[in-house]
Amino acid sequence: MSAKEIEQSFVILKQTVPLLVKHKISAVPTNYALWYTYVSNESPELNEKLDAVVESKLPMSELKAKDLYRSFVSDTEEVTAWDLRQSLEGMMIELSQTLKDTKSDTQEYKKVMDTCIDDLSKVEKEGWTVEEVLGLVRNMVKESQIIRQSTISFNGALASAEKEIARLKMQLEASQQEAMYDALTGLCNRRYFDSEMISKMGLETMSLCLIDIDHFKKINDNYGHQMGDLVLKAVAKKLQSCCRDNAQVFRYGGEEFAVIMPEFNLSRARQMADVMRRTIEKITVKDRRSGQSLGDIRVSAGVAQLNPKETQNELIERADKQLYEAKRLGRNRVMPI
Ligand code: GH3
Ligand code: MG
Ligand code: MG
Repeated sequence: MSAKEIEQSFVILKQTVPLLVKHKISAVPTNYALWYTYVSNESPELNEKLDAVVESKLPMSELKAKDLYRSFVSDTEEVTAWDLRQSLEGMMIELSQTLKDTKSDTQEYKKVMDTCIDDLSKVEKEGWTVEEVLGLVRNMVKESQIIRQSTISFNGALASAEKEIARLKMQLEASQQEAMYDALTGLCNRRYFDSEMISKMGLETMSLCLIDIDHFKKINDNYGHQMGDLVLKAVAKKLQSCCRDNAQVFRYGGEEFAVIMPEFNLSRARQMADVMRRTIEKITVKDRRSGQSLGDIRVSAGVAQLNPKETQNELIERADKQLYEAKRLGRNRVMPI
């Protein structure tokens, strides 16, 4: 039998099984051989008779099937059995290809394939009957269709789910970035501050420091808004670098910053605030384009330690009062002393 003929019988085989399923014909060897011959179009007379059976919508009696089989197929039985084996091998090759195509190596599929390959070797060794071969084919067709379908749709669903997840992740990160960070200074923003304060209210010890740049309006007025922005960035960077022991800096408003200091009592909070103030005093900001340098950047700060049962607004208000006091007493200082 040539490769082309094998290919041909494989094609017929693949069409035959679905026909049996479609017409609800039990896949006993007689029926299989009948419908195999039907698909191969070898005998127009047989095809006419089978068409009539389908048309009548009545189940074909076993007697009638045997009769048709005897008249049209019996002498080709040997060939048919051989065709089946060849087709089976062809189908195995195609199924392995399917396995590669879908890049699936699910345990279940492998198990089915292994069993089928085992059984295939029995076909040759133990001289299987047509019925047994058919049982194997039916099983393979069924299993491979189910698994192929599920792996294709599974892989497809997985790929699009992965894409969707990646997109959502990017969106989420971007919106989190926007929601939590200040675009100019890169510090955590006011919204983030509010939520962090809520979560810190349960602490037994914690302090809050509010910092405001002195006469910042003059910096803008004298050197321009862009230079003002550079000063804000430089101050933010210094504040960040001074943070110790889980203290967290936020851009609280235009030229105002807040530092949440968990586990800091008033004295330690005051100390760190003063370190920040003195560090900022040393900043010089240089405008690269104009070559202009700007020093004398000063800040005032107000510190308050959380009282038992105090709300976050009450704590903020007390820190703000201390900041106001620092301004009133001449700026460039931390209050309370
Ligand atoms: P004080 O010492 O009392 O705090 O005086 P001040 O000039 O710092 O305070 P005031 O509240 O009068 O002015 C703050 C200025 O900060 C006004 C506003 O234009 C400026 N400002 C707020 N946000 C920004 C910003 O993002 N960039 C720049 N360049 N300026 C800002
Ligand atoms: Mg201010
Ligand atoms: Mg100010």
